[in-house]
Amino acid sequence: VTGPLDRLVRALTRLPGIGQKTATRLAFHILRAPEEQADELSRAVHEVRTQIRLCSVCSDLTDQDPCAICTDARRDGALLCVVSQPQDVLALDRTGTFRGRYHVLHGVLNPLEGVGPEELKIHQLLRRFEAREIQEVVLATSPSVEGDATAMYLHRLLSPMGLRVTRIASGIPTGGEIEYADGITLSRALTARREM
Ligand SMILES: [Zn+2]
Repeated sequence: VTGPLDRLVRALTRLPGIGQKTATRLAFHILRAPEEQADELSRAVHEVRTQIRLCSVCSDLTDQDPCAICTDARRDGALLCVVSQPQDVLALDRTGTFRGRYHVLHGVLNPLEGVGPEELKIHQLLRRFEAREIQEVVLATSPSVEGDATAMYLHRLLSPMGLRVTRIASGIPTGGEIEYADGITLSRALTARREM
């Protein structure tokens, strides 16, 4: 069978954490939902793919370039928090503890999987120090083997530039992901960051 309903079920099954049963339930829900709800969903899916791109300054996902955080004059331009993925910006910013700006690497160093410095947004990161506004770089990669190795690499790269380089404090379980840590844990990790 290749009807529209089957195609929708199959498309939903490809989403993470969605099995056949859930996909079928969602598909029937969409089918029976008011037309404007279904339209809103399909429009949002389309727009997220056509309008979202990377900020040319921080490499975060955005629909305006530079993004809202990079252009927010109320943010502390001397503070820069480096994270591995866009979800981490959301998680850390929600805490309200950090009022600087961010830089998204889009990954962590992982030689076994062929991810070297060239594969990460490190060129873009280095370009940001030319303006000499940034004084402290907070390395907020996850406390995993790869996250720690990435933080060490950046520390070696940045400390000779006269920048204060700090690492978020532990508290996030080792190997844990920033995006899944709760707000209080993240707030503490940011507040108790240490010089590397
Ligand atoms: Zn930005």
